[in-house]
Amino acid sequence: VVEAQDKVKHETPITLDGHQMEVVCNIASPDDAESVVEQGGEGVGLLRTEFLFEASAVEPTVEEQQQALQKIIEHLGAKPLVVRTADIGGDKPVSWMDMPKEENPFLGVRGIRLSFKHEGMFRRQLEAIYRAAQWQADKGESTGLHIMFPMIANMAEWRKARDIAEQVRAQLDAPVLPLGIMIEVPSAVICADHFAKEVDFFSIGSNDLTQYTLAMDRLHPELPSELDNYHPALLRLIKMTVDAANKHNKWVGVCGNMAADPHLACLLTGLGVTELSISPANVAAVKHLIRSMNYQSLKEKAEQALALDDPSQIKALFETSSE
Ligand code: PEP
Ligand code: MG
Repeated sequence: VVEAQDKVKHETPITLDGHQMEVVCNIASPDDAESVVEQGGEGVGLLRTEFLFEASAVEPTVEEQQQALQKIIEHLGAKPLVVRTADIGGDKPVSWMDMPKEENPFLGVRGIRLSFKHEGMFRRQLEAIYRAAQWQADKGESTGLHIMFPMIANMAEWRKARDIAEQVRAQLDAPVLPLGIMIEVPSAVICADHFAKEVDFFSIGSNDLTQYTLAMDRLHPELPSELDNYHPALLRLIKMTVDAANKHNKWVGVCGNMAADPHLACLLTGLGVTELSISPANVAAVKHLIRSMNYQSLKEKAEQALALDDPSQIKALFETSSE
């Protein structure tokens, strides 16, 4: 099986009936970039930039941040590279930052909220991203850079983040980059039709979206069970996101852990997600799986799944669609 998977890792992830997917990777440092290409990843769907801040004792300079991005771009060339701005707070603390102790850090000043509190730092991160885009353009290469904002919960946050990004870009006269948001807070799904008019893309963060939808701490040793991702509520939220995006011709990816599970990848494909962002080690298996799928039948199964109230029945439905 592993051999068969390995054979197709550099092939296009297209279903038997011709539906093309995109398989990209989640990475958390420049050192991971090489394995993306080696393992057949078609780009990076989530660069967790927290490493820039966690690894250092002070805020890294714009130059240091730019260097780290350029190192990744050197491996990826013009392939997509979705850079998520710092998602600090919650389960991702940074020791040197002034972060008051919170009763409920997951519900506190994290992600984009923290970026607005430290706006100078946010602007410097954006500057590094746009400078890297400029550097790539100066080489005569087209850029695959995208910018994504984490933990967006309302339109005001999105618009503020977008406007700051545009100010930074304009000051540098850097290339325009697609701007998207993580869909990981239920309010963003409920208002996905509003967001879809303005953003360039969505990427569903199923780890946090599951946590916030089910009110279950994603790190709690007793709570998470594999059935969480089959909860009918999560399926509906994903469907709502896809429908809103389709209406406005925007793409939807999933960069949470569920995208790497073969059965859940089938479910996500059936629900209309077109980009799966997973760890490099899982690319071969997921590509192999997609190439053995029939999209029409997955779509039908996803329709059936949406009518079920029991996660284990939903799971069973998809266990038979991939072997
Ligand atoms: C998620 O929440 O699913 C996600 C991909 O982001 P992170 O795991 O970095 O919070
Ligand atoms: Mg998240």
